[in-house]
Formats: sequence, structure tokens, C-alpha cells
Amino acid sequence: MARPARVVIDLAAARSNLALVRRLAPHSRVMAVVKADAYGHGLVRMARAFAGADAFGVACVEEAMGLRDAGVAAPIVLLEGAFCAGEIATIRRARLETVVHRPDQIEMLARAGGGEPVRVWVKVDSGMHRLGFAPAQVRTVAARLCALPAVARPLRFMTQLASAYTPGAPSVAAQLQAYDRATAGSEGEHSIANSAGIAAWPDTHRDWVRPGLMLYGGAPLAGRSAADLGLRAVMTLRSELIAVKHVAAGARIGYGGTWTCPQAMPIGIVAMGYGDGYPRHAPSGTPALVNGTRVPIIGKSSMDMLCVDLRACPAAVVGDPVVLWGADLAVDEIAAGAGTVAYELMCGVQARARYEEHDGGQG
Ligand SMILES: *Cc1c(COP(=O)(O)O)cnc(C)c1O
Repeated sequence: MARPARVVIDLAAARSNLALVRRLAPHSRVMAVVKADAYGHGLVRMARAFAGADAFGVACVEEAMGLRDAGVAAPIVLLEGAFCAGEIATIRRARLETVVHRPDQIEMLARAGGGEPVRVWVKVDSGMHRLGFAPAQVRTVAARLCALPAVARPLRFMTQLASAYTPGAPSVAAQLQAYDRATAGSEGEHSIANSAGIAAWPDTHRDWVRPGLMLYGGAPLAGRSAADLGLRAVMTLRSELIAVKHVAAGARIGYGGTWTCPQAMPIGIVAMGYGDGYPRHAPSGTPALVNGTRVPIIGKSSMDMLCVDLRACPAAVVGDPVVLWGADLAVDEIAAGAGTVAYELMCGVQARARYEEHDGGQG
């Protein structure tokens, strides 16, 4: 039998999460963010699952063309815009929409001349200090873009929130105020909210919302679980026990022997490791589910394997199912234990762990 490591994708959960976004932001259109291979879930698969979205957001032309080549006809927005002038022709031909966040991207459009105009989103740096024009520059940038034959009018405007996942973060109001001032009087649609904005900050909803994490069932807000918000895990990382053994008190487990058995006990070896995307930094004690029972992992995960303490399920045998994260074990909990975020764990899943999808459940 093949190595049992699997990434199981629940399409019904994905649709249910999109429906929840619609309920939370009923007056906004939804740009489903599918960059980074749809946060590790599979670009085309997830675009199909989110077929009801009004647009898709991606990080680059290659991702956008992956969607167009698969027959996705919906609007697609390049969230970082063109990386070089050579991409403008593709943007036009494939009818992509593009962010403009830097002066030379304006020049690329200026040199493109007439023809079918491109839909442009002006990125405003309202305080995150990553991409975008400073608020004081926005009016000048907008005027220049509006004068270009290659640019569709009206423009659209967007910004990104730095700390919306923190309840009550004062920076959210400050960013909103900076954004509203910068764009006041400019005709066009607006987009501010990512998942955290959608979940907790209704003032940020505007014409378009841009959910990523929450569509996949990750928790967008600090201190609140995904389940609490009504989100369902789309990805389950699962495998099986490939060995069960009984070891003596004092036995040390795995590379470096970082975990010592306090008593004679059963342990299980799981076909799952950092070569599949399971975080090496998950400490001993990080939970996994063996036959649905929570057990702690013990020792360091290695490339292909990790070990679990089977004292809580002594009847476990080779071939029993093991869930590393998913529907009944929030990826956010594993991420917190490993000192990272659900985004990184989802994106880090490797194609070696075979993907399967199902469309069962409610949704
Ligand atoms: C990735 C991204 C999003 C989605 O953010 P989530 O926190 O995953 O909801 C939204 N907007 C932009 C510009 C992004 O780059």
C-alpha cells in the first residue's frame, strides 16, 4: 500500500465558509484570495469550490494564468500588480485586474498605449507600511492614472490592515481614517477588509471584501476559535500509524532523544514529518488524533515520521488513522504550539502528501 500521508480537502466546508463571509458582509462583493496555491489547498480546485465569488485575488501573473488556463472566467486581481513591464501584455490579453502600488507600475501602463483598458486598483498605504502610496500621494497618482488610455475608469482603491486580528486594535481606526481622507472625492469602489476585517470590523467592509484565511477555515481573530465563528476546516492533514511499539521507562524518543518515557508505555510512529509540511518546531505535547482520541506527539518530528504517546489509546494498531490537523483538531492550535500561524502551516503542506478531495457533509 502507498505511503498513507494525505491532505484531504473538504469542498463543502469551503462553500460553507464562503457563505459565512456573505452573511458577515452582506453588502460587499467577495474577492476570494487564492494566492500561494490557495493557501496550500490547490489553486484550481479551490477556485472551483469558490465559484460563487465575485473575483479572485492572486499574487502573480503565473497564478492568474493557472486560473485562466483552467477556464476560470471571473475577474482576477493581481494583488501586488505587475512585477515588470513585460507582464502588461499578459494582463491585457487575459483580462486581469492589477494593483498599482509603485510609480513605475504607472509608467508601465503609460507605455502600454491604447487598446482594451485595464482595471486598476490603487493601493493606499494607510499605515501598514508595506505596499502602497502614501495618503498624500493618492490624489496625484489617481489623476495621472485616470489620464492614461490604458487604464479603465473609474479607478478602484484598496488598502490592507496591519492588526485587525487584535480585538480593539487602535491602529484599525487610524488606518480607516487615513484611507478615507486619502480617497475622499475620488470616484470608484473600495476594498479594505481581509478575513479579520470581515469577522470583527464591519466599518471596513465597503464595496469589496478580500477573505483568505477564513475561507479555508483558519481563525482570523486572536482569542477566538474558527469553530466559534462558525468556520469549518477545509484541510485535514492525516496519515496512519506505521508502527506501534512498547518501550521501557527511561527510553528516549527520536533524534536527540529529547523526550524520555516516564514509564513503560506504548508509542506510535506516524508517517508524517516536515517533508510533508508538518512543523519541525511543534514541541512534545502538541496534540494529534489517533482513532479520534487526542494524544501528544513526543520528541522531534523528522522528515518522514513523528512519534506519538499511545497511553490514551493502548489498543491502537498499525494502520489506525492519525489526524495532525483538520476538522476536529484546529490548525490554529497546532500553529500556536509551533510558534507560527495557520497561514504558514497551510501553505507549507507539500505535494508529497497526496491530495484527496471530498464533497460530503453539510454545506
Ligand atoms: C493575502 C491577502 C488577503 C487575505 O488575507 P487573509 O488574512 O488571509 O484574509 C487580503 N488582501 C491582500 C492584499 C492580501 O495580500
